[in-house]
Amino acid sequence: MLKDKTALVTGSTSGIGLGIAKALARQGANIVLNGFGDVDGARQQIEALGVPVFYHGADMSHPAEIEDLMRAAAERFGRVDILVNNAGIQHVAPVEEFPPERWDAIIAINLCSAFHTIRLALPAMKAANWGRIINVASVHGLVASAQKSAYVAAKHGLVGLTKVVALETATTGVTCNAICPGWVLTPLVQKQVDAKAAALGISNEEATRLLLAEKQPSMQFTTPEELGELAVFFCSPAANNVRGVAWNMDGGWTAQ
Ligand code: NAD
Repeated sequence: MLKDKTALVTGSTSGIGLGIAKALARQGANIVLNGFGDVDGARQQIEALGVPVFYHGADMSHPAEIEDLMRAAAERFGRVDILVNNAGIQHVAPVEEFPPERWDAIIAINLCSAFHTIRLALPAMKAANWGRIINVASVHGLVASAQKSAYVAAKHGLVGLTKVVALETATTGVTCNAICPGWVLTPLVQKQVDAKAAALGISNEEATRLLLAEKQPSMQFTTPEELGELAVFFCSPAANNVRGVAWNMDGGWTAQ
């Protein structure tokens, strides 16, 4: 379905971003890979699906590096047709103890980076009259949890940005939507499980059960593969008129 299209997925070396990149690759899209850590492992997993992969190591907290990423992606593949703003980090602390530099980093990576990639990707998408912008927000773009001030502020902002971009592109072939996962067992969440286990002196298994029981009625993690298939749906012709939604995949978290 996506042969000859190019998908840039920020933060795609791990977790949800890698799951989405692989799902888009299975549909034939060229992949622009971004993020830190095990770059070679991610590249190999995507290349094994038979598509070309181009890696750019832009730090998504630096606008100049984002500009370089967008320029390099367009140079390599012609243009970015599918933009998935996924890179994100978390920090958990009460607001009065929240380190200001962590606040700044979370807002920069989880929110501002999407503004920059979108403003830079849109002209070519509009010229082609086709584009898909998918912002990986969170249930925390819809509801709050204590101790996550920066993350919740950034994700609510990302849902707002999604709606504005959807309105500004409403009469074009470009759509913009957000995905709002509940708990997904990635390194980002594993850190929170580990912290809970350490704080309460309980096993990893028990901490996982508590984490799910607190928020996610299904008592099951959403998977990167399931989120990848949702991204594929947003890229399909059936989703041509899905615009500005914040689509949760959260095991019932926000239904409560
Ligand atoms: P993860 O830690 O597995 O992956 C994060 C990715 O972002 C990695 O590839 C990492 O290298 C990259 N990254 C981090 N900082 C970066 C930077 N400055 N520049 C470029 N890349 C950077 O986490 P994940 O759980 O897969 O999270 C992906 C997205 O999904 C995030 O936006 C997160 O907020 C969101 N999300 C996660 C969950 C969950 O339960 N895991 C739930 C809702 C939303």
